[in-house]
Amino acid sequence: MNEPIIILDGLTKQYDQLVAVDHLHLTIYRGEIFGLLGPNGAGKSTTILMLLGLTEPTSGKVRVCGIDPVTHPVEVKRKVGYLPDNVRFYDDLTGLENLIYTGQLNRMTKKQAREKALGLLSRVGLSGAAHQKAGTYSRGMIQRLGLADVLMKDPEVIIMDEPTVGVDPKGAKEFLELILKLSKEDSITVLLSSHYLLQVQEICDRIGLFVRGKLIAVGDISSLSRELFANEPFIIEATVQHPLSAYSDSNRIVDLQQLLAKIEGVKQVVVEHERVKIFAAKDIAPQVARTIVHAGLDLISLSRREHGLEDIYQRYFEKETEIAV
Ligand code: ADP
Ligand code: MG
Repeated sequence: MNEPIIILDGLTKQYDQLVAVDHLHLTIYRGEIFGLLGPNGAGKSTTILMLLGLTEPTSGKVRVCGIDPVTHPVEVKRKVGYLPDNVRFYDDLTGLENLIYTGQLNRMTKKQAREKALGLLSRVGLSGAAHQKAGTYSRGMIQRLGLADVLMKDPEVIIMDEPTVGVDPKGAKEFLELILKLSKEDSITVLLSSHYLLQVQEICDRIGLFVRGKLIAVGDISSLSRELFANEPFIIEATVQHPLSAYSDSNRIVDLQQLLAKIEGVKQVVVEHERVKIFAAKDIAPQVARTIVHAGLDLISLSRREHGLEDIYQRYFEKETEIAV
C-alpha cells in the first residue's frame, strides 16, 4: 500500500470570509479504504468536489492518480467513480437500463454494457430488482445501484460522500460491508466521507478526523486516539461516597477535586455527583485511591482505561458546537 493515489498538498477553499478547507495535507495509498470523518460543515463535501475538479481550490495542490483535476477534470472522471450524497437515477428506467445507459456513456456497446450491468447487479445484491424501475427503489437500493453504477467504468478510485445517510442502520452496515468486499476484490482505492464515526470505522484502513476545515488527526482508531489525547492518555474513574451523608457535604467533594488536581500528572478532574473522572498524563490510580481515602470519603470503585473511540466520538462528534481546536 505504498503507491500514492490521492495527494492533497496545502489544499484550501475559501468562500468569502469562510475557510471551508484549510491547508489540507493528506496522502491516500492504492488499495486503501480511507474515511474522511467529521461533523456536518467540516468541509468534507468541499474537499471531495475539489478532488473531482467540480470546484476549484483557492490554493494548494491536488493530484488524483497523478492527474491534476483543476486542469484535467475529464481525465480524472475517467478513473474515479463518484457517488454523491444525493445520487439520482432516471426514475422511469429500470436499474438495469440505468446501468446500460452509464456503460454506453463510457463507450461500451449495448451488449457489453448489458453483460457488465447484469454482473454488477448480482454483485451488489440487486439481481431481483434489475427490471424494476429505479423510481421504486428504496434509499438503500439506490445506494447499491449507485455502487454498481460507479463500478461500470472499472474505476481505480471510488469517492463516496456520506454513503450511509438515509439508510437504516442494518442496511448501512450491509452496504459498508459490500464496499469493503468489492474494493478488496477489485483492489480499488476508496475515499468515503461520513459524520458517523462509529458506523464506518470498521471498514476503514485509516481515518482522517476533519474538524472546521482542518485535519486534526490521521491514522487507525488506536493511533488516532493516541494522537488526539497525547497529553492525557489515562482516564481514571472513581466512585466515592461520604460515609455519613452521600451528597449533602458538597464542600468535601470540591476539596477532593482540588486535592486530586494537585497530584502530579493530572490534567483535568471532572466531578459529577459521586463520580470522579481524572484525565492524566500517567497512571496515577494508587495516588488517586489514597487521596480519596485520606479525604475521609469511601472509595466505592476505581477503574482505569485508555482513551478510545467513545472518547473521540464524545469530544468531536456529539458536542459539535463546543469544540475548541
Ligand atoms: P461537510 O460536507 O463536511 O458537511 P461542506 O464541505 O459541505 O461540509 O461545507 C463546509 C463549509 O463550507 C460549511 O460551513 C458550508 O456552509 C460552507 N459551504 C459549502 N459550500 C459552499 C458554497 N458553495 N458557498 C458558500 N459556502 C459554502
Ligand atoms: Mg457534506
